[in-house]
Amino acid sequence: MSTSRKKKPLLRRAARADTPEVRGLNLDPQTRCLHHHAQADVIAIKMKCCATYYACKDCHIALAGHAIEVWPRSEWNQEAILCGACGARLTIREYMQCESRCPVCSAPFNPGCRNHYHFYFEEELQ
Ligand SMILES: [Zn+2]
Ligand SMILES: [Zn+2]
Ligand SMILES: [Zn+2]
Repeated sequence: MSTSRKKKPLLRRAARADTPEVRGLNLDPQTRCLHHHAQADVIAIKMKCCATYYACKDCHIALAGHAIEVWPRSEWNQEAILCGACGARLTIREYMQCESRCPVCSAPFNPGCRNHYHFYFEEELQ
């Protein structure tokens, strides 16, 4: 007897007050930037290379002055994703499994980000 649940339960993780600094060009309070400023472009990513949150890789190119380093699979348990809508931090694995919606506040994330994973995270094995 199993009743399949359609909706995943929300993570019980309070939004944190200590929101880290996010860098980006034309950054707005929900971490949208010059390059990605649609309603759903609300995540920031902590870069492996400098442990600093950036709105996107193009902001990193413009501001960091060094090459981006991708997160190896062995470190996908790191809280490298920041939800700009609620301030929650997600691990890379949680982010990849969240189906383009914040598991804490349900804010929609841009599903197109999936096409950019390889800029930030080690490639999936085919
Ligand atoms: Zn960096
Ligand atoms: Zn940007
Ligand atoms: Zn959120």
